[in-house]
Amino acid sequence: MQSATRNPFVNRMTLAALICLLGSCVTPGEQAKTKSPQIKNIIMLIGDGMGPQQVGLLLSYARQAPHGVLSERNTAVDRIMQRGRLGIVLPHPADSLVTDSASAATQLASGQFSRPELLGVDQHGDRVVNIVERAKQLGKATGLVSDTRITHATPAAFAAHQSHRSQENDIAEDLLATAPDVMLSAGYGYWIPKDLQADHSASMESLRQANGADKLESKRTDNKNLLSAAERQGYRLAFNREQLASAQGKVLGLFAPLEMPDGIMEKQTKDDPTRTIPTLREMTAEVLKRLETRPQGFFVMIEAGQIDWASHHNDTGLLLHEMLKFNETLNYVLDWAAQRDDTLIMVTADHETGGFGFSYSSANIPPAISLPGKAFAGKAPYRPKVNYGNPEVLDRLYAQRLSYHELFKRFNVLPKERQTPDELMTLVNAHTEFKISRSQAETILTTEANPLYREGQADKIAKLIPKMPVNSAFFPYAPDNRENLLAQAVASDQSVVWASGTHTSTPVYLFTQGPGDMTVDFAKVLHQTQVGQLAIKALE
Ligand code: MG
Ligand code: ZN
Repeated sequence: MQSATRNPFVNRMTLAALICLLGSCVTPGEQAKTKSPQIKNIIMLIGDGMGPQQVGLLLSYARQAPHGVLSERNTAVDRIMQRGRLGIVLPHPADSLVTDSASAATQLASGQFSRPELLGVDQHGDRVVNIVERAKQLGKATGLVSDTRITHATPAAFAAHQSHRSQENDIAEDLLATAPDVMLSAGYGYWIPKDLQADHSASMESLRQANGADKLESKRTDNKNLLSAAERQGYRLAFNREQLASAQGKVLGLFAPLEMPDGIMEKQTKDDPTRTIPTLREMTAEVLKRLETRPQGFFVMIEAGQIDWASHHNDTGLLLHEMLKFNETLNYVLDWAAQRDDTLIMVTADHETGGFGFSYSSANIPPAISLPGKAFAGKAPYRPKVNYGNPEVLDRLYAQRLSYHELFKRFNVLPKERQTPDELMTLVNAHTEFKISRSQAETILTTEANPLYREGQADKIAKLIPKMPVNSAFFPYAPDNRENLLAQAVASDQSVVWASGTHTSTPVYLFTQGPGDMTVDFAKVLHQTQVGQLAIKALE
């Protein structure tokens, strides 16, 4: 009879245990396991523009808002970190420091380097295989969900291949060619023919019935009806919550002409029984309900895309609501996955937007307070030299009732003679807790000559644009810059700074949760292309 120490099996196990103790569980002759053989599904949740700073806003709100709405001050980020792991992702594209959503989503979807504004093609301009196409080859079901629109860069990069992200007419056709089983978002404007009156197909009649004929506007430059094309491919169409709930099989759900409601609007209408547009959480529930029954499993990408839009506009109150929308959606995904060990959940961002942060300032320095500690015995009361930010700001941000974008939409439709500083001040102060003065409103409405304007050129380029006091080159979306100026007007009151109206190169988080040790490889400093490669590998 062999002694225990001479048993080669026991020896190997002892050695393995020793290596485990040293921090890496590798049995001799065997590579570290990178995935569990049971992995069936991948849910990838992308917060567009959701850098560590944006995640930080959610966490600050959860922990510090005096009247925070999150139960037990807990977030979905806390939850995923209980079972999951954290990695750090560099999002740069080929030959540039900063990325956009098209190249970033292309890199995440394919594992290949791309370039800014390219969609579903690599850095040389060649078509890449994306994870949706790969999943289909493997017999898996696929889904794309976004709270922007389905032809927008992030969802589009998971199914389309175009030389520019703006080619949304062609992107819609690409989406049908790739044909994910479920597509839920907004943007039917890109799916309906230019000449709307001439089209009396069943799909158009159904859309007219759901949305009102007068509200339809086509963004197409041809007369293709891609809704009917989708029906011919076996898709059921859904234009409202009711139709979505009853649609079986493959579903194309388009719930608004150009974009889903923003986070503030979504929150305000959530309990309205007549609401027709699903929330991001509801779309997530619908896609999982449909795909979870598929025997080979599925890949789904869910985008919280308006985090980016709020951040471009430097609209901190809206950003908070977008982060709460993301939180609610991830909570749903975590609940769904709680009893499963066959699903990899990946939560990341394509990049950070705006260079956001709370910051201390010389404005509104709070009065001295007396601290009971012995260090202050016989000394002057405690008074920091600057204002480190009052957590009450978080409650006041939450109380914002209209996004900056919607505020200016309302302002812009006023008759020209009423577009005055007084009107702007009244509008802003009625819908936000961070009030502006008349002179601040005046500054926001100050214009200067647009350097891009040329006499006789396309009339879409405005002659005058909002005057940006500093770094105007980082605010290239001129017509919307008044929103950024409004943010600057309330910055010190909010204890908030925004560095830019565009994206930054900040590395972003990657949270993963999955069975066994399969998430170990994701808990590193990775480039976005490596994340894409790991995702595809996990699926295979
Ligand atoms: Mg996006
Ligand atoms: Zn962006």
